[in-house]
Amino acid sequence: LLGAPGAGKGTIAQQLGSRYRVPWISTGELFRSHLANQTELGRLASASMAAGGLVPDDVTCAMIADRLDRPDVRQGFILDGFPRTCVQADALTGLLAASSPGRCLDQAIVVKCPDCLIIDRLRSRRVCSSCGRSFNMVTRPPREPGICDACSSPLIRRADDQPDIIAARLATYREQTAP
Ligand code: AMP
Repeated sequence: LLGAPGAGKGTIAQQLGSRYRVPWISTGELFRSHLANQTELGRLASASMAAGGLVPDDVTCAMIADRLDRPDVRQGFILDGFPRTCVQADALTGLLAASSPGRCLDQAIVVKCPDCLIIDRLRSRRVCSSCGRSFNMVTRPPREPGICDACSSPLIRRADDQPDIIAARLATYREQTAP
């Protein structure tokens, strides 16, 4: 699933993942969990994430290569937020071709949404600190305030869902991902 930040990729990817019983693979979620666990990869990603830019392609591609090597993706998988550059798209083609048995993507779906809606959505978005599920305080609030419906962990506001970082993320999308 491709699309600007806040377009709805994560929400759709999670719904498709449960419907088809295949893993939801979000590079953003993987980076956030590395950050939370203070790994070396998290350290490499943190500055780019905080500024609304992209983590370098070599770091991102190595992380995805590792993830797509795990046994749970054999029956299929949904990528959310990867690839985000032309270099990553080429790397993904190479990774799938080199895998055994050779795999290919069934669909590449672009989720489109006007910038004004995205800004509103990201401002009112809260995410689960444990399972990553997204809520919207206006249109899709949790049953219990501040608590995830799925796993009862606290909801948080993502550090990069602040107005100036949102603007930087939208610019990054236009410049590096849209092509
Ligand atoms: P997301 O949760 O998809 O909005 O991603 C959050 C942040 O993680 C992005 O703003 C980037 O800094 C980083 N990130 C996620 N996916 C990628 C990717 N495919 N390539 C580079 N950076 C990424």
